[in-house]
Formats: sequence, structure tokens, C-alpha cells
Amino acid sequence: MSDCLFCKIVNGDIPCSKVYEDSHVLAFLDIGPVNKGHTLVIPKKHYVNVFDIPEEDWISVMKSVRKVSSAVKKAVGVDAVNIMSSNGEVSGQVVMHSHTHIIPRLKEDGLKLWSQGKYEEGEMDSFKEKIISCL
Ligand code: ZN
Repeated sequence: MSDCLFCKIVNGDIPCSKVYEDSHVLAFLDIGPVNKGHTLVIPKKHYVNVFDIPEEDWISVMKSVRKVSSAVKKAVGVDAVNIMSSNGEVSGQVVMHSHTHIIPRLKEDGLKLWSQGKYEEGEMDSFKEKIISCL
């Protein structure tokens, strides 16, 4: 897509700090890192998110996420990373080209993860059944 920021990066129209590339995937440093070393892994083809990416391309991205996560952990010298992907505007997805964050974590770095709610009586079974019926 010609107006997509990440497609422009894949095409070389916009520079990036590339850390990994293969025929399907590109990984580069996020320009607004939670912590230094925060890396994005994207498919080279334009897909919006998990809902339109073909399984084989998703597998390629996840294989690269696994590989690059170990490198980020070692290079940054941390014990932990978060692997996160927002899928859809309401989830916080800003760039509408599928991307997975590898965020090296430091103690007390201020990154907050989601809060935990709870189910009412019987609600958990209802959601479980609804999800199963959609698989
Ligand atoms: Zn794109």
C-alpha cells in the first residue's frame, strides 16, 4: 500500500534501524521505544493485522519474533521481554500494517499491562462456548 508507513520502510523509501530480515519478514527498532532495544517485527507484505494475515505469513513472523526476542534479550542484557501485538484500532493499533512488539523489560520501567476483571457466575462458560462455536 503506497500510503502505509511500514510498506514504505519495507520498500526502503523510509530508513529504519534494521536488525533482521529474511524473504518474508523485517525487524527494526521502534523509534519510540518503551525501553532501548524495543523492536518491531513485521511481515514484508501488507496485512492489517492477525485477522487478514495468512497462516503461513503469521508463522514466518512468529518464528522471527522468537529468534529476534532472544537476540534482544541478550543484547540489551535483560531477563525478560514482552511480546505484544495490537489488532484493531480499539486495541491500540496505530499503524495499520501488522506488527509485533518485542519490548525488553526493566524493573520499574513504568510499562503497565492490562488490568484484570472477573466473570459473573456462569459467564465464563458462556464465553467459552461462544468462542468454541466460532472456531
Ligand atoms: Zn503496509
